[in-house]
Amino acid sequence: MKEKDGGPSCSECGIRNCYRRDKTYPPFCLTGKFAAAAEETRKLYRGSGIDGRIARAAAEIEGEYYGRLTRLEETIRFAMKLGVKKLGIASCIGLLDEASLYAKIVRTAGIDTRTVICKVGAIDKTRIGIPEELKVCPGCNESCCNPALQARILNEWGADLNVLIGLCVGHDAIFNRHSKAPAVTFIVKDRVLGHNPAAALYTAKFYYKRVLDEKTFPAPRTISRRKAPERKKK
Ligand code: SF4
Repeated sequence: MKEKDGGPSCSECGIRNCYRRDKTYPPFCLTGKFAAAAEETRKLYRGSGIDGRIARAAAEIEGEYYGRLTRLEETIRFAMKLGVKKLGIASCIGLLDEASLYAKIVRTAGIDTRTVICKVGAIDKTRIGIPEELKVCPGCNESCCNPALQARILNEWGADLNVLIGLCVGHDAIFNRHSKAPAVTFIVKDRVLGHNPAAALYTAKFYYKRVLDEKTFPAPRTISRRKAPERKKK
């Protein structure tokens, strides 16, 4: 690994002594370098605050159900362990059917729930500075995703926990920044791979090897070829 690459880190470590502590740490190991910070985090997870409660709930689920629960069931068990009464759902418009079914399952578990779609607020993309040509459907009203409003509505409702269903890359970051309640992800969006982004890694050494070559990494589409039609005045 070259110096310009930032040097080796956990992704280049074949030892992983931090897990079982039955080998020797490599010279670049982060566990040794951050020993004092690690102790601070241990206290955080041991404590009675929200980080401690979440850390222990997640570890208990791992221990109690390892390999037996789907992520769907794990998110609901997690909510039950935390004593969640109100579970907010921040959903993508493209996964609203899945969100509706998820809401039904949450209610079956005895937890109140409310869903807010990504297009809430109905603000056309051009109004946040996106050119008409970059819409999926130029010439149409195309509302931008509004994760900050999704979070705000769920904050005002008093959600104890929020669950993300298919928010876009980046919109999830905004939602997490604005959500007062802790937020976990149930579905990550992958428009090409049926919401299974790891499939790109499983196939990256052969079928998807374009991602490992900077010359073949997919380029953005050029917008000049997609001239936007005139928008009809209403
Ligand atoms: S923390 Fe240390 S032992 Fe663990 S994966 Fe990273 S470099 Fe390897």
